[in-house]
Amino acid sequence: MATRIDGKALAAKVKARAAAQAKDLPRRPGLAVILVGDDPASRVYVTGKEKDCAECGFLSFEHQLPAATTQRELLELISRLNRDTAVDGILVQLPLPGHLDEEQVLGAIDPEKDVDCFHPLNVGRLVIGNPAFLPCTPAGVMEMLREYGIEVAGKHCVVLGRSNIVGKPMGMLLLQQSGTVTTCHSKTPDLPAITRQADILVSAVGRVGLVTGDMVKEGAVVIDVAMNRNARGRLCGDVDMASVEPRASYITPVPGGVGPMTRAMLMENLLRAARRHQGM
Ligand code: NAP
Repeated sequence: MATRIDGKALAAKVKARAAAQAKDLPRRPGLAVILVGDDPASRVYVTGKEKDCAECGFLSFEHQLPAATTQRELLELISRLNRDTAVDGILVQLPLPGHLDEEQVLGAIDPEKDVDCFHPLNVGRLVIGNPAFLPCTPAGVMEMLREYGIEVAGKHCVVLGRSNIVGKPMGMLLLQQSGTVTTCHSKTPDLPAITRQADILVSAVGRVGLVTGDMVKEGAVVIDVAMNRNARGRLCGDVDMASVEPRASYITPVPGGVGPMTRAMLMENLLRAARRHQGM
């Protein structure tokens, strides 16, 4: 039976570490959070991030804008926040309403304040192995592997999903730790034949029950990034716990796995940004 990786406990440890390190700074780290519209799920995420800031002793500045906000208004706000010396990190909660150009918005954030690591410059830095920030979800997964003494070098790492937010940067971080990475997506034929080769399997698709026990090698490490709702409306990942847990060596639960780590790594990035801005 697999050991469950406790993302909640590890996230608390990461946040406590960030809070302790921030005590040396002359000024408290500040996060500006922009929320456009009133999507309830986005509201929950924003509230969670503000709570994390408070827990770490960091400041958060919320900018709740109406759904009808224009591209120009949003870009003006970002430009103002780029110049605001109390703001170390700027986060635009996604998804944005359809009439807004997400790529242009994310590209307008000062790369030095891009704590989500979505700006093309920071993505490029990540790819060449000289990152200013690490993307929160993949960085959270790497922190879990490190904490549980799971070696990546020389392992076959299979990543399901190739999004810019999770799948691609996940593969990049595993590669940088000398894993041999295979990235799968919706056009990958015979997924089980590939997943069965994985020493470390990361699923970031968003489909309930995608990964079943017969797709997992005995002793594999299984990381479930997904956040889905099952037929009963309960939060779950891509991995069928009942059939996979007995075969895996380590596994992350949903909830209580990668989710809390994503939030904790945002606090790490905010601390990193504040240090840079304060010349530390
Ligand atoms: P996304 O942009 O929708 O990407 C999903 C990826 O899965 C795509 O690359 C897609 O392939 C691939 N895919 C779809 N069906 C597949 C299949 N049958 N086999 C293999 N790959 C398949 O989603 P995302 O933003 O990366 O998020 C993925 C999941 O992670 C979601 O459940 C999301 O809620 C969750 N998430 C969790 C956290 C966290 O903190 N825990 C953070 C972010 C996201 P194509 O590219 O070919 O379409």
